[in-house]
Order: sequence, then C-alpha cells, then structure tokens
Amino acid sequence: MRMQDKSVIVTGGASGIGLASVERCLQEGANVVIADLENSGGQARATELNGKHQGRCVFQAVDVTDTAQVDRLFADTVAELGSVDAVFNNAGIGGTCAADELEDDEYLRIIDINLNGVFRVARAALQVMYRQGSGSIVNCASILGVFGQTGTAAYTAAKGGVVNMTRTLAIEAAKKGVRVNAIGPGYIDTPLLAALDQELLDGLISLHPIGRLGRAEEIANAFLFLASDEASFVTGAHLLVDGGFTAGKS
Ligand code: NDP
Repeated sequence: MRMQDKSVIVTGGASGIGLASVERCLQEGANVVIADLENSGGQARATELNGKHQGRCVFQAVDVTDTAQVDRLFADTVAELGSVDAVFNNAGIGGTCAADELEDDEYLRIIDINLNGVFRVARAALQVMYRQGSGSIVNCASILGVFGQTGTAAYTAAKGGVVNMTRTLAIEAAKKGVRVNAIGPGYIDTPLLAALDQELLDGLISLHPIGRLGRAEEIANAFLFLASDEASFVTGAHLLVDGGFTAGKS
C-alpha cells in the first residue's frame, strides 16, 4: 500500500480525473476527502466509495473561489483525519471563446477557478504542511500550460500560470519537507470534453501520437506517484502525461 493511512484532499474530486484519483488513493490505503461543489454529486460518490476500501472517503462542499471555504476544508481535514499529507489541486473548468469576443466576466471566472483557486488551495496546504514538516502538493496544469491553442486565452493564461507558480512554490517549500509539482495532462476522456462534437474530438485525438485520448486513471497514476514517497526527490516538476502531444508531430 503506497499511501497507507495518509490523508489526501482532492479538489474537483467528484468527477473525471479527480474522482479517478480519489479511487486510486483509496486503493492504496489512504483516507480521502472529495472537495467539490455542493451540487457536484460528491456526497453520493463518497457514500459509494466508503466501505469499498480500508480507508475512509468523506465529502466536503468547497468552492475554490472562496478563501474561507478553502481554509475551512484544511482545518476540518486536520481535525477529522489528523493531517494533510497530499493534495491534488485539480478543480478546474474549460471554456472556448476567441480572444476578441471573450467578455471580462468569463475571462475572470476561468482565471478565478483555474489559477486563483489553485493558489488558494496551495496556500492553505502549505500552512498545514509547514506545521507538519511534510507533505506533497500536486497542481493540475495542462499541455495548454505550455502550448497555445485557438479559443483558449483565459485557460492557457491560467494553466501557464499554474506551471510557473508551481516552480516558485516548490523552491519556497523545498527546505520545509514539502514538495510541489504539477501534472500536465493531454486531452483526457472526462465530462470536461462532453461538449465537443466528434469531429473536433477526432482532430484532438490526431494531435496525440499515441492515437487516442488519455484515461482519467492514467492521470490518477501520475498523481499517486507524485503524492507518494516514491517521488521524494521530485519537486518543481511539470510532469506531462499527454500521449506524446508535446513531443512533436508524428
Ligand atoms: P471534470 O469536469 O470532470 O471535473 C472537474 C471537477 O471540478 C468537477 O467535479 C467540477 O464540479 C469541479 N469544479 C468546478 N469548479 C469548481 C470550483 N469552483 N470549486 C470546486 N470544484 C470545482 O474535469 P476533468 O476531470 O477533465 O478536469 C480536472 C482537471 O484537469 C482540471 O483542472 C482541468 O483543467 C484539467 N485538465 C483536463 C483535461 C481534459 O482533457 N479533461 C486536459 C488537461 C487538463 P462540477 O462538475 O459540479 O462543475
């Protein structure tokens, strides 16, 4: 068991990559908090998963745009589980719009969830982990943190910010027993892509030399590695898990 008795928080844990990561950590012996929006279905997921594994799975309603809710998540987790050993800073939204038509409200909403939300969660995690003298934070970035793509000005700004903020957090935390890394998924088959039509999906698939979309479990496995002691010398990394997308054209 690679995460025996560890306490793990997964934001956006009710769906897609987050939910797969919750299950993966439970399989490896962790107690896991699904931190997601009130109406995300997180309570039902936690109820389903509880009892299937040795570790506990609990749900806490959290909106990562709300600092008080984020701080309460960490205080409650320490009170209930005793520590926070790993965090997957994974909550995020998509959104496609040409830059010249992108309204302030939509731009700011994407930045507030995908970038500011990652900061709020990381700050709260660092405060707890510095007191413990240990911990691992994994931020969910994207191939669109290192590549541009038409229609994604806000998303790419946010994810690029996550990649570089991860480096700064990593060097600040390095001597305090805390590691901070990012994962850069390629396109992954989750509800985030549900709005895309088949023609667009086929185009996206063709950008991955491996020739398919990724599976949520494949990102969960990368999270598990970075969260666990197996990655004890890894910090400040942006681990691309992208079927070769960023390696070049096949
Ligand atoms: P999903 O939509 O399946 O899951 C995202 C989860 O985040 C949902 O449960 C969603 O809740 C939750 N969420 C949204 N807003 C908030 C908020 N303000 N506070 C707390 N939780 C929130 O998407 P994925 O699993 O695909 O995405 C997970 C992460 O992976 C995101 O950061 C995304 O940007 C990143 N990513 C995804 C890729 C992909 O191709 N799928 C590629 C690269 C990166 P609700 O459903 O209720 O809105």
